[in-house]
Amino acid sequence: MTMNIALDENNKLVSIEQVKRGFACQCTCFECGETVIARKGEIKEHHFAHASNKTSCTINTESVLQKYAKEVILESMGLMLPALPDSDNAAAWWSFETLLPEFSLGLIRPDLVGYFDGEPILIEIAVTHFIDAEKLKRIEIFKSKCIEINLSSLLKSNISIPSPDAKKEIIENLDNKKWVYPIQMEQSSTQQNPLVYPQIINTPQLISEQQNTLPKWQDYKFTVKGMHVNVRHFSSGMISVNSAYNPEIIAMLKEWRREGRGSYNPTYKSWNYWLPFSEKVLERLKALNE
Ligand SMILES: [Zn+2]
Repeated sequence: MTMNIALDENNKLVSIEQVKRGFACQCTCFECGETVIARKGEIKEHHFAHASNKTSCTINTESVLQKYAKEVILESMGLMLPALPDSDNAAAWWSFETLLPEFSLGLIRPDLVGYFDGEPILIEIAVTHFIDAEKLKRIEIFKSKCIEINLSSLLKSNISIPSPDAKKEIIENLDNKKWVYPIQMEQSSTQQNPLVYPQIINTPQLISEQQNTLPKWQDYKFTVKGMHVNVRHFSSGMISVNSAYNPEIIAMLKEWRREGRGSYNPTYKSWNYWLPFSEKVLERLKALNE
């Protein structure tokens, strides 16, 4: 098998086309770590060869892709992510403050952990092995947002690695990314009845519950500074907050959005917060309730 990929002196993936000829490439074998020479002659196809002249290693393309995906996400310090489940925000570029490779959260060892406003986002890069029920159970315990990037189609494609096209596929394509947590609930009802609150009752008590086997949301009504604040609590843990206009309350919700990486939906005039921060917001509203 021809070795057309190796690791450069910074341990980054490089293709034979990208490097200088001979030992000057300063590369090592992706599989065995031995020094390699870039053979870029006139006759044979350009390739890397072990310095010891031993037989070429078989390079595992799945491992190459895994490594490359980590490299480009780390380089970009972020990536495009689809809208969070049960939210009315849109797909967006997420820029991380910190990105840690091979970081352990208890029993979970995600490929990367990105921090967004202090909250960990687990990033799983899957080529042939996807998140199974056991792993999902562990993720659910932590209630950490988790995204899975499925690179199986990139593996099967003719796109070479490394290349700008491959990078684009990993960083920008939304079709190969899905939120593993929060879990996607059935969206039909939330889409058809966008945040219409039943007009009822007094203070924080349950005012409605969908009559399904699994309630999709619960609505609460708070009174803060003499204003009604309505909260829809989705079973995913996400909450959506509506308030009558009051500059102080708006400033507070805005501050919480910043603090807990929430979002504002101008269509519904609602402030959305996700786990684990959404629980804090509920606690605070309970404390402020008059
Ligand atoms: Zn080797």
